[in-house]
Amino acid sequence: MVTLKTSKELAKMRTAGAITAQALQAGGAAVRPGITTGEIDRIIKEFIISKGAKPSFLGYGGFPGSACISVNDEVIHGIPGKRVIKEGDIVSIDVGAIYDGYQGDSAATFAAGAVSAEAQGLMDATQESLLAAIAVMRVGARLGDIGHAVQSYVEARGYGVVREYVGHGIGREMHEEPEVPNYGHPGHGMRLVAGMVLAVEPMITQFSPAVRVLGDDWTVVTKDHGLAAHFEHTIAVTEKGPVILTLP
Ligand code: MG
Ligand code: MG
Repeated sequence: MVTLKTSKELAKMRTAGAITAQALQAGGAAVRPGITTGEIDRIIKEFIISKGAKPSFLGYGGFPGSACISVNDEVIHGIPGKRVIKEGDIVSIDVGAIYDGYQGDSAATFAAGAVSAEAQGLMDATQESLLAAIAVMRVGARLGDIGHAVQSYVEARGYGVVREYVGHGIGREMHEEPEVPNYGHPGHGMRLVAGMVLAVEPMITQFSPAVRVLGDDWTVVTKDHGLAAHFEHTIAVTEKGPVILTLP
């Protein structure tokens, strides 16, 4: 069932979203050669707790971190730990925070020092595809319009769209209905109505979109070891148009 949020609930989600966005910003600011993914995770966790919120990923399905931190060919669900970030790495950070009963969910890929033109191009296209998707999120549009916006943008530039993982509704729960694929056909799928809140999250690969899960049962990597990028916002559909809730 898709839950529609009242304006009062959207206000709460905006607060949860702001904390999430600030935590992501703090984590991103810490990305540099020499830092470990575990240290980045600690910064994010401490920030969220300092705001009176809770890191929603911590313990979710047994996940041991407060953020998912995925480096280079890792797409999503990377477990923070002893890995040391190197010059030229690209680091995807995915953060969730729960505040006053409501969830925020946001992700971005950050550059460690100077990165290759290929890496920068992938990151830029992924972020731009998210913005293109948000732009179509008006009342009366369809879920397929969102997926199509992402897919057409990145595939035109030679990148791949991961199929196995998708965006989602969000509210009191981190993962609510509906699923929000990053691929699809315009004019198809569920119609968007005011009060829907969706986490849209393009997971884009440099080459083939094929992925597999590592032996830690969490980390999703590209099969061909090409780079991957991930950007995500929590967005409300309103009569006045799309509203990004995960802004700092
Ligand atoms: Mg996320
Ligand atoms: Mg999400």
